[in-house]
Amino acid sequence: MSVLTGKTALVTGASRGIGRATAERLASRGALVAVHYGRNEAAAQEVVAGIREAGGQAFAVGAELGVPGDIDTLWASFDAQLGTYTDRAGLDILVNNAGITLRGHIEETTEEILDQQFAVNVRAPFFLVQHGLKRLQDGGRIINISSGATRIAYPEIIAYAMTKGALDTFTLALAKAVGSRGITVNSVAPGIIDTDINASWLRGNEEANQFAASLSAFNRVGAPEDVADVVAFLASDDARWITGQVIDATGGSQL
Ligand code: NAD
Repeated sequence: MSVLTGKTALVTGASRGIGRATAERLASRGALVAVHYGRNEAAAQEVVAGIREAGGQAFAVGAELGVPGDIDTLWASFDAQLGTYTDRAGLDILVNNAGITLRGHIEETTEEILDQQFAVNVRAPFFLVQHGLKRLQDGGRIINISSGATRIAYPEIIAYAMTKGALDTFTLALAKAVGSRGITVNSVAPGIIDTDINASWLRGNEEANQFAASLSAFNRVGAPEDVADVVAFLASDDARWITGQVIDATGGSQL
């Protein structure tokens, strides 16, 4: 039996990147994983197939976030499928991973950009949790994927960094609110990770890679699995005494 056997997890934005690695890691530890995706169903089904081939359990849940009805659509799909895979009702682990980075300095950030940035990165996880609390089992886990950009100033992604600051404050207040149920709430703050979100400036650019690597105490760019392992730890019983925290997973960036 693995550490998460019998648990059910939902990972948003799990069709690629950090979300995908997290879904795969939680499944490899025994959890049944709902692999949420926004638009790319084929990619999500590929993740599900990979988990099943490796002996795990997973199903895909589609809902674009940041649009009207998003949260109802997501939970309706989750609720409709859950019984096919387990007799247990509800959810044990919710990972709010889906996010967008709309790059821009303050002068370039329009009202529309700011609203969209907050709709996906803050509003969606807020209401996903609000509507999910009745599904979340006592002793459960909420893990919000934040960013090192709340600690290290990146004026070129100012709106994005602000959303992650809001998410960390959500983590703090929510941890207090649900602590009596034994639910822990924590943020994980990655540094620069080699995923599609950074493809435009990082991939195939040796200079950019060297720069990104140099920020970390370990002198390498992070991989999705570096973050997924931290999430898996927080999801486990071993992390039951940690709540309301921002866990830095930047590989010691700019120490
Ligand atoms: P990514 O772009 O590869 O993955 C983001 C995921 O979120 C995708 O699956 C995407 O489909 C989903 N998503 C985005 N907008 C959505 C929407 N409107 N509706 C539904 N799904 C949506 O990026 P990633 O690097 O894997 O990012 C995962 C999380 O990690 C994000 O919250 C990001 O802010 C955070 N993060 C990433 C880095 C990094 O350097 N890669 C650093 C710090 C924090």
